[in-house]
Amino acid sequence: MRFSKLRLNGFKSFVDPTDLSISRGLTGVVGPNGCGKSNLLEALRWVMGESRARAMRGAGMDDVIFAGTTRRPARSFAEVTLVLDNAQRLAPAMFNTVDQLEVTRRITRDSGSSYKVNDRDARARDVQMLFADASTGAQSPALVRQGQIAELIGAKPKARRRVLEEAAGISGLYQRRHEAELKLKAAEANLLRVDDVIEQLA
Ligand code: ATP
Repeated sequence: MRFSKLRLNGFKSFVDPTDLSISRGLTGVVGPNGCGKSNLLEALRWVMGESRARAMRGAGMDDVIFAGTTRRPARSFAEVTLVLDNAQRLAPAMFNTVDQLEVTRRITRDSGSSYKVNDRDARARDVQMLFADASTGAQSPALVRQGQIAELIGAKPKARRRVLEEAAGISGLYQRRHEAELKLKAAEANLLRVDDVIEQLA
């Protein structure tokens, strides 16, 4: 799946609705200090389901909402939409019915985030899986932030392996295995309870 457009509204310094076209190939973001380059990268991570406020350089997730300046009042919500080209039909089955997917995350002050895929409500987990299966996501090594190359060079083997697994698109499988194991444990606990009840009845 190819990213074709990023739309921001009230996200950090992007107070006005802003549309960015993402062309094929490698994309670099250039501009003077403080113009919002890192904010753009964070918007991408955020719409893909980033759940750690610190990864957004904030204390709480509300900090992604435009905080106001001396000339402009603060906004009450932030919204980011990522448009994906799904012509090759690589999206997970639940989303794989259309050629274009629009994933939107919106946060309103004090009421948390909500997600939509093509205008239908979606769970954070489904959006995270959508991107994990496409070998990308909030932690994707395809989004290179400042200092990340040096971090990678100095990283321990385990951390490097995680990067390779992300790139290979198997991190979603780990999450699914974890969820399956939790379900299995719950089923085992239920079976024990059934055994107890049968014993009492016998
Ligand atoms: P550098 O090249 O120095 O790393 P940059 O281009 O990556 O800079 P960013 O760090 O993306 O710039 O943007 C910083 C700007 O975003 C600052 O001016 C900061 O005030 C503004 N900013 C960050 N969060 C918010 C917010 N919630 N509301 C309004 N402005 C914000």
